[in-house]
Order: sequence, then structure tokens, then C-alpha cells
Amino acid sequence: MTGTEILPGKGKRGQLCNRQACQQPGATFYNTSTRAWYCPECARKINFWSLLDHNEAICIPESEVATPDPRPA
Ligand SMILES: [Zn+2]
Repeated sequence: MTGTEILPGKGKRGQLCNRQACQQPGATFYNTSTRAWYCPECARKINFWSLLDHNEAICIPESEVATPDPRPA
């Protein structure tokens, strides 16, 4: 993988992390800003910055997502 290729399942619930340089399996965090799914590690980093900027965690764990899928692709 080059890190620039977009793989099938990128940003999908339970599939691949939406961060293009990551795209690891296990996307279990929903980003309420981009409306895509991220792995726990990327979600943690995104939340770190969003908490600094907006005092708000924008990535929420799958267990806190109310609907089966807020916006099916
Ligand atoms: Zn990731």
C-alpha cells in the first residue's frame, strides 16, 4: 500500500479508517464532522485537536451512535 490509494470500505462503519494515510481495518468511531468512520487511534488524535479547538470531541464510539448508520453511503 502506498498510503495514497483509496481502498474499498474506506470511511465505512466497521471497515477501514477514513484517514487516507491510515485506512486500517476496525473503523469503530464515527466522526460527526466528516460523517465518516475512523479507527480508534485516529479518532483519538482527531478528538485531541477538536477538543483544543472547539472543546468538543467530534469522534464518538460506535456504541454512542444512536441510529444503525446516520448516513448510509
Ligand atoms: Zn486510522
